[in-house]
Amino acid sequence: MHYFEPLSVVIDEKTVEEVQQLIESSQQILITAHLSPDGDALGASLGLYHYLKYKGKNVKLMVPNSFPYFLKWMSGAGDILVYEYNPKAAKTIFEHTDLIFSIDYNIPKRVGGMAPLLEKSDAKKVLIDHHLFPGNIYDVVISHPEISSTSELVFRLLYQADKYDEMDKTIAECLYCGMMTDTGGFTFNSNNPEIYLIISLLLRKGIDKDRIFSLVYNNLTEDRFRLLGFTLSQRMKVYPEFHTALIWLSLEDQKQFSYNKGDTEGFVNYPLSIKDIIFSAFIREDEDLVKISFRSQSTFPTNEFAGQFFNGGGHLNASGGEFYGTLNDAISLFENSIDLYAEKLINTPK
Ligand code: 5GP
Ligand code: MN
Repeated sequence: MHYFEPLSVVIDEKTVEEVQQLIESSQQILITAHLSPDGDALGASLGLYHYLKYKGKNVKLMVPNSFPYFLKWMSGAGDILVYEYNPKAAKTIFEHTDLIFSIDYNIPKRVGGMAPLLEKSDAKKVLIDHHLFPGNIYDVVISHPEISSTSELVFRLLYQADKYDEMDKTIAECLYCGMMTDTGGFTFNSNNPEIYLIISLLLRKGIDKDRIFSLVYNNLTEDRFRLLGFTLSQRMKVYPEFHTALIWLSLEDQKQFSYNKGDTEGFVNYPLSIKDIIFSAFIREDEDLVKISFRSQSTFPTNEFAGQFFNGGGHLNASGGEFYGTLNDAISLFENSIDLYAEKLINTPK
């Protein structure tokens, strides 16, 4: 009896073969993920990490900076090396590695201070990512912007290499977490029916998807929950004529709620709950820059907007950028920018 349609071949078969050969011929493997790693970056990296460990490889996983507490439950999270904490040790690791994986980012710039180490390394390099415009430093490129998470790509890589049987519950939990977080709990970028075939295959490994949801989304500290309430009631401006909403937080606001890294994760999605709002922005003052996140519904291209005005990029419906200046200047730039996009904003259906 057939329970599942087979998954379609997304990753080119030759590429799958090449990655397998590179893994086979490497002993020291380094997995890297992007700045401020999110659920997908960590889930995909840890899934691959556990698989390579199981294969007997000497594998390390390094990220540029720390990650939020609601992702620390994932098995192996405690092994993750944070570049910022020990750049000297990081340099030594880069010098003694045969193979580097770049997970969930497209270009070296996205690993911040680790970028020169990555670029200078003589190791073979494999990219596994779903952002547009993959960089040119790679020996093998698995780049699929049409796939909603890098974790799904890691699943597909193992599945296509006929390694489903070697996947255990731990690997499945990490990959599920990444698939879930990059689709907002399967509420956006999640209409590909094969996503649910994959979930089914992950459930067969014994994962508890309800528990994973709770660990990520029902795990807020009181401060974080109150900060969300404060942001929505005191720091939100709606531009009804542009179908746009903006939320912002100053450093002072964040201090008031004992802000910790990751505390505002997901905040930018909330204004999209408002009727007729198709574009949401979150401008957050940080120590030495202003960080901006964008989300949209349907066809409004936040990545184009982020690239044009905020030196950033990302996906159509989820992107981000940076601003060097004051919080107020960032807000003014945003307001001038939506003026320039008025026609598109007004004409995009929800
Ligand atoms: P978030 O809003 O969750 O920080 O980021 C959403 C997405 O936007 C990320 O997955 C990434 O693709 C993109 N992104 C965020 N910040 C930047 C940035 O500063 N530059 C670029 N190029 N992309 C970004
Ligand atoms: Mn991702």
